[in-house]
Amino acid sequence: MTEIQPIPATVVPQLRVITRDAHGLSRKQMSQSALRVLYRLREAGFGAFLVGGAVRDLLVGGEPKDFDVATDATPEQVKALFRNCRLIGRRFRLAHVVYGREIIEVATFRANGGDDEGDRQTDDGGRLLRDNVYGSIEDDAVRRDFTANALYYAIEDFSVRDYVGGFEDVQARVLRLIGDPEARYREDPVRMLRAARLAAKLGFTIEPATAEPIARLAPLLADASPARLFEETLKMFLAGHAAASFELLEAHGLLPVLLPETAQALASNKSGALRCMLMQGLRNTDARVQAEQPVSPAFLYAVLLWPAYCRALALLQAQGVHAVEAQRRAADRVTMHQVARIALPRRFSQPMQEIWLLQPRFALRMRKRVFRLLAHPRFRAAFDFLELRLAASNTHAEDVAFWREAQLHPAESVAANAQETQPEEGDEIQNAPRKRRRRRRPADKGPAE
Ligand code: ATP
Ligand code: MG
Repeated sequence: MTEIQPIPATVVPQLRVITRDAHGLSRKQMSQSALRVLYRLREAGFGAFLVGGAVRDLLVGGEPKDFDVATDATPEQVKALFRNCRLIGRRFRLAHVVYGREIIEVATFRANGGDDEGDRQTDDGGRLLRDNVYGSIEDDAVRRDFTANALYYAIEDFSVRDYVGGFEDVQARVLRLIGDPEARYREDPVRMLRAARLAAKLGFTIEPATAEPIARLAPLLADASPARLFEETLKMFLAGHAAASFELLEAHGLLPVLLPETAQALASNKSGALRCMLMQGLRNTDARVQAEQPVSPAFLYAVLLWPAYCRALALLQAQGVHAVEAQRRAADRVTMHQVARIALPRRFSQPMQEIWLLQPRFALRMRKRVFRLLAHPRFRAAFDFLELRLAASNTHAEDVAFWREAQLHPAESVAANAQETQPEEGDEIQNAPRKRRRRRRPADKGPAE
């Protein structure tokens, strides 16, 4: 085994072997494809381990979403063993072994220490610029982020190898950074988000020394890649633990860096109505994920940025900007400012804006407008958003009831609620006062065709 190269925080890896009966993990819980990869590597004489999130999730009784393998075989050696294998990545090469729709990622043990060429290099702030040397399993363990993520299930004897105290931490449900927390966040500020996300996902507590620097170092996240932050936010908010993640972002001072205008809007909204709506939206998203219903980044971002949009809109209207124009400008402004931090692709930001801009149209009931809105490609999402606003604030009940009915019996609803006069443009503002409604026809009369 190669010499141990401790990372700067001088973490000295100490091996503890947890035997099969002590950890209770069973191969039955593991992906068949991952097991095939492990056995093949082992037969060829290489070390082969299941590692990272999969081991952690299995230990807490969860269902891993992917199974990663770590080995001492080089990517080229892995490729030679599997026909269904392709190598990816330039900076650090990884092998993907493909079984139908399942991909098993096989990574060669990676090192972050030592004096070799390709050694870890950091910028002035301590941020990691390169790490591309292979190393020992010990090197690989200490360069991981949290102790709970650095456990290795060995196919050779079915034991769990723990070099950093991760097994105990998982038992105690604690998230602890390996090494000096401040140094590790400076290397990679996204680890602060990972702390919040994994604590939310697993119901772990963030150990005090790991939690302490976060609020202080949160501004470093502004230098993280906006594309990576977009990916992280999807993992955070579309995986069934959005509400808990959001609360942890707030608690650790990460929200103002990630969603600056939303944070500002929430802080200045004395009634708390905007936060209430946002949390309700996140809880609904979690419920949909639980029920295996589809969730969309556009709707999610419509929820996350709604406070920012409402604030921007109010400010523009206070400046005397005409309502319809103010809506458009507020939507554009909020989107433009946010994408500088989180790279929300246009295919999501556009429907997000449509969801917002359709909201005032639910207050309008003229025949033509009803049919036009019902046929709008974003109608369903916008209506779900309206329902969410109702659930959070107990307002808009009348609009929700009308449009629920209109989806079932459009012609009848229009006949019963006809507003044939064209409204002034200024009517199309958020929560515009509604025209008086005539009594609805009884439902049993059927569509008025
Ligand atoms: P999830 O369940 O969301 O997939 P995960 O821990 O598996 O969580 P991944 O992003 O899949 O997260 O990363 C796999 C493993 O790679 C982690 O368990 C951890 O060991 C390591 N890792 C990931 N990101 C970092 C990072 N920023 N710094 C150090 N190690 C990391
Ligand atoms: Mg993973």
